[in-house]
Amino acid sequence: MSDRGQFTIEPWGLHEAELDLDRLAHTETVFALANGHIGLRGNLDEGEPFGLPGTYLNGFYETRPLPYAEAAYGNPEDGQTVVDVTNGKIIRLLVDDEPFDIRYGELLRHERTLDWRAGVLTRLVEWRSPTGGAVRVKSTRLVSFTQRSAAAIRYEVEPLEGPLRVVVQSELVSNEPVPVLTKDPRAAAALAAPLEAEDHATHDLRAVLVHITRRSRLRMAAGMDHELEGPDGYVTAVESHDDLGRMTVTADIAPGEPLKVDKFLAYGWSSVRSLPSVRDQVDAALAAARKSGFDGLAKEQRAYLDDFWDRADIELDGDLELQQAVRFSIFHTLQAGARAEQRAIPAKGLSGPGYDGHTFWDAEAFVLPLLTYTVPDAAADALRWRWSTLDLAVERAQTLHLDGAAFPWRTIRGQECSGYWPAGTAAFHINAGIAAAVIRYVQATGDLDFERTVGLELLVPTARLWRSLGHHDAEGAFHIDGVTGPDEYTAVVDDNVYTNLMAQWNLRAAAEWCARHPEEAEALGVDAEEEASWRDAASQMAIPYDDALDVHPQNEDFTRNAAWDYKRTKPEQYPLLLNFPYFDLYRRQVVKQPDLVLAMHFRGDAFTPNQKARNFAYYEAITVRDSSLSACTQAVMAAEVGHLELAYDYFAEAALIDIADLNANTKDGLHIASLAGAWSAVVHGFGGLRDYDGRLSFSPRLPPALTRLSFRLAYRGRRLQVEVRGGESTYTLTEGDALEITHHGDRITLEPDEPLSLKIPPAPQRPEPTQPPGRAPMRRRSLPPKS
Ligand code: BGC
Repeated sequence: MSDRGQFTIEPWGLHEAELDLDRLAHTETVFALANGHIGLRGNLDEGEPFGLPGTYLNGFYETRPLPYAEAAYGNPEDGQTVVDVTNGKIIRLLVDDEPFDIRYGELLRHERTLDWRAGVLTRLVEWRSPTGGAVRVKSTRLVSFTQRSAAAIRYEVEPLEGPLRVVVQSELVSNEPVPVLTKDPRAAAALAAPLEAEDHATHDLRAVLVHITRRSRLRMAAGMDHELEGPDGYVTAVESHDDLGRMTVTADIAPGEPLKVDKFLAYGWSSVRSLPSVRDQVDAALAAARKSGFDGLAKEQRAYLDDFWDRADIELDGDLELQQAVRFSIFHTLQAGARAEQRAIPAKGLSGPGYDGHTFWDAEAFVLPLLTYTVPDAAADALRWRWSTLDLAVERAQTLHLDGAAFPWRTIRGQECSGYWPAGTAAFHINAGIAAAVIRYVQATGDLDFERTVGLELLVPTARLWRSLGHHDAEGAFHIDGVTGPDEYTAVVDDNVYTNLMAQWNLRAAAEWCARHPEEAEALGVDAEEEASWRDAASQMAIPYDDALDVHPQNEDFTRNAAWDYKRTKPEQYPLLLNFPYFDLYRRQVVKQPDLVLAMHFRGDAFTPNQKARNFAYYEAITVRDSSLSACTQAVMAAEVGHLELAYDYFAEAALIDIADLNANTKDGLHIASLAGAWSAVVHGFGGLRDYDGRLSFSPRLPPALTRLSFRLAYRGRRLQVEVRGGESTYTLTEGDALEITHHGDRITLEPDEPLSLKIPPAPQRPEPTQPPGRAPMRRRSLPPKS
């Protein structure tokens, strides 16, 4: 174990040895627990002090007016914002006459650990109150992966010296005051106390509160129940009010005779179900959680995670800090999506209110690759959520006078919530990202039922969108004009290469799948002519190329634009969007986040190796990485073209973004796409996994910083491990039937439990590319080796 910064470096957890009040909001985010349905920020049990309190239910939002200086056709009028729902984490403590509050008295010890094998957050505090009574408080919190509506807290308090009287108040608090993040007063008003009380009830040690949001009319219930263990003679009381449920236990405790409170929490919500139905759902979930008991829930949690890590673990020998960071990344991505079950996966997961709790293209393009290869059912559910919003996407396409479906750039429920169309509506590439995620999921699982139903129903309307958005010119070439690619510093352009290549994939797959499923295609109104029109558009897709520079321009004419003056840009002027007008960014060669480089990852089959190397070098020099979605993609492509050290530097930035708070905004929530991207950097980057055309291929290469690298995958009912060390790569099928894969271009067949070791060819040697001044990733190669 070694120390660097605030957290201890260790392989299976994030441990904070002492509390730093100035970094509370940051630690609340990195210690957040979630299962994709419920999210609890890592707030202190006693509720105060806090950086930002937060309890979230996936999909539960309030609507608010979207402000515009000038009206324009097609602008969405309402936004959606994630709501801080009833807080069930609160357990207050009175020690003799003093409230337990670490800002007063003497804090003797304060440790917190997020354990990603056990799936719990533990806390150990020793505190002396201003009047001298000293206690030890231990809490263990979990949000259950196995019981989707349930969370639980074990809270133990014991005196350190003599006997003490303690009062524990376990609470449900609705409409807790939250610091206002928005500058728009109308939005702030809509979000102040968003929950209207509908019902409250108590029964034994249980309390349930039911609320409904003022504008969006979503109903939620939160319930808590308890099991107590303590010295004889403790006394309990339970009460409920509109915005408060409280169970109080008073006890005289002594060293060796602690008071133990097991608190069970349950949440439910619905836009349609009645009050009794939502309330009873929560009562039922509480009954189930109590039947398991805290130990039972903890055991189920551990078993779920043992199975998960068996499919998803990454081992890095030679860099313990990144070993920790990559597991942190995988665990938080799992927490964002595991039990979302037909709700969106937000950009921040359920760890904070950043980006209003919206989901973006991040989910399909960055998060679903990880879920597809580790928890494929969760990936299918995420896509089913998109599918469930198809009616809204069709409506949006109609508003835009387009065919098919136009999925929203940002949303919670499915309606477009982006108020800035050049980097919102115009970013049509999200539709191809959804289609690509569908194709990847079906290839990785062989789930033909999904292909015929949800899959086809997503591919057809997205293909229709492209066909109506683009046009054939007089020579027949198909152009998609006036759109924005992933790089938001270049907007509303013609023939963005990323968009066109992704649309091409979407159109081709839609035509192929319709041919495979003629009946279903017919039911969707697809005829031979329409299918042929998709194939034509795909085969004649315009892919601009700059012959003079011998690179792909990001879009038509991009390489003709003026250069950005990187030398005169001061370090404090990044991110550029906060310091320069968009019009100036738009007309110059400056890239916020990989666009053409991402195209080379997702559509690597459309580029030659030399084109990849030249393009990579060209875009490295102009990519400023003002989005956290950048480093992971640069890692993948740097590895592919042979810059392994650079790839490693980018991998580190993607994986450390939240532990090290690299962008100084982790307080608002985790950067889930970057964390999932850290997995990609290893699996797609150093492992070289590609899945074009339904074939699994690997081109592993070990970065110099590591002595060994291993990753695991779930693929078509099999489990697979890839291990890279000493110039060789070993493939092991740990479960399932024989499988054909490709290793550095050679086809091989893996037989169950017969590991196959193959030599790794040397990486191509190419001159090291350069980045804009001051925008290169932190050089890990200069750090002392760690183990
Ligand atoms: C990026 C988008 C991304 C969004 C949410 C923005 O800064 O440019 O590509 O979808 O953040 O992560």
